[in-house]
Amino acid sequence: MANVSIQLKTPITGEYKQPTGLFINNEFVEGAKKQTFEVINPTTEEVICSVHEATEEDVDTAVAAARKAFEGEWRRVTPQQRGALLLKLADLVEKNLDLLAAVESLDNGKSISMARGDVGGVAGCIRYYGGWADKIEGKTIDISPDMFHYTRREPIGVCGQIIPWNFPLLMLAWKISPALATGNTIVMKTAEQTPLSALVFASLVKEAGFPPGVLNIISGFGKTAGAALSAHMDVDKIAFTGSTLIGRTIMKAAASSNLKKVTLELGGKSPNIVFNDADIEEAISWVNFGIYYNHGQCCCAGSRIYVQEGIYDKFVAAFKDRALKNKVGDPFHPETFQGPQVSQLQYDRIMGYIQSGKEQGATVVTGGDRHGDKGYFIQPTIFADVSQEMKIMQEEIFGPVAAIAKFKDEADAIRLGNDTAYGLAASVHTKDLNTAIRVSNGLKAGTVWVNCHNMLNHALPFGGFKSSGIGRELGELALDNYTEHKSVAINMAGKLF
Ligand code: NAP
Ligand code: MG
Repeated sequence: MANVSIQLKTPITGEYKQPTGLFINNEFVEGAKKQTFEVINPTTEEVICSVHEATEEDVDTAVAAARKAFEGEWRRVTPQQRGALLLKLADLVEKNLDLLAAVESLDNGKSISMARGDVGGVAGCIRYYGGWADKIEGKTIDISPDMFHYTRREPIGVCGQIIPWNFPLLMLAWKISPALATGNTIVMKTAEQTPLSALVFASLVKEAGFPPGVLNIISGFGKTAGAALSAHMDVDKIAFTGSTLIGRTIMKAAASSNLKKVTLELGGKSPNIVFNDADIEEAISWVNFGIYYNHGQCCCAGSRIYVQEGIYDKFVAAFKDRALKNKVGDPFHPETFQGPQVSQLQYDRIMGYIQSGKEQGATVVTGGDRHGDKGYFIQPTIFADVSQEMKIMQEEIFGPVAAIAKFKDEADAIRLGNDTAYGLAASVHTKDLNTAIRVSNGLKAGTVWVNCHNMLNHALPFGGFKSSGIGRELGELALDNYTEHKSVAINMAGKLF
């Protein structure tokens, strides 16, 4: 019997069984090459365990399993039954919330309170799409008395899904839920940094009663397993969340293989705009949450903060006080707000950006260094007087680093807000409703928050303008990512026109 699980411990759940195999056909199995890779705890920099690695051959096996399920058993499952399976899965996620959250904190380093929030969001998202499963409707279209026309919405087929490490379980839920609700089958590759929670989740997929092959989850590397999935000739659709650079690679692989459908949720450099008339205390709380939530490892992080001239100095001083109150440390401490960054690589990237901010002459208001002496912890960092061309104002840092600059008036705010290749999100803080609406309309972003930030919900479409992606996840719109529309035209006249 292959060794596909291990006993692990978390500080809040004690011992639990951690699956380590590839989840294919509802079983945990070793990879074809019998390779494994180490999973690191970002809080201690120690190895947690090793998991089996999927290579190209395993991607083939998983795709074949998903194809067989799609053409076979899954096709005969009614929409109502699909919905019921998703609802059951959502219940199981809630039942196992403590374990899933603890594994997420252990592997990713996010604080336990946020991990619990994530897992609640996972259950909510799965349940929301469970409700959609039997509401996927076509139309009848009247064109001629001799013809009967209707449209059907059909599943696309085998979907490849590639997710990042910043919200391991939540990104999984955003992707699998609409795909399963609409009758597709899936091969998902998790991020190499954070494979553990998805494997615990996989055992719940089996427990919920999904037929074998419907949802396959493999651990592995982007360059091998991810590349094989996005170039696979028998994968009908690929959905990706991650960097813009790899998003382009995925699109090229799709174009040069079988032109599989592509949806991309990529990076951002979202502006957070604070007007003179904003409630300054409230605005600072949201700006703080906007940039430091999930340690800044958020595609929609409000990383560019534009503050109107009249309140600039007061804002910078008060924001510093607020940032210093964020509790940084052990993710398992109930009051921790910010844990470590996910990996040494991300830590080094972020420290490189901090160095560049200093070299390019931005003012360090607070932070700018590592926190503690062990783990990938970085101090909440604020740069003020950042000019538009500085690297820290242009590039996605994906860490706890805020860049602040001044603006004059509304036109200036919109111009600066839009001066980026990205267009994922933005926020506006003002008490004037007309300003809020005009600025929201003027910003080229998939989501605009007014007097808040990072307020996502599975019922609201989410995705990017410009280089932030293609397509929308969540809400009713995500169903479109996973259905083909078929027009059926029936000739009732029985003769050639
Ligand atoms: P990434 O390389 O884009 O990783 C995202 C996912 O894509 C991972 O599962 C990754 O596998 C996979 N991947 C990598 N190369 C691939 C390829 N050639 N073909 C198919 N799949 C591939 O992101 P990263 O290196 O972890 O982070 C780099 C930067 O990306 C961050 O600093 C941040 O700016 C941005 N990012 C954005 C998001 C977001 O939510 N939009 C999330 C994460 C990162 P591996 O696990 O092997 O890397
Ligand atoms: Mg890890």
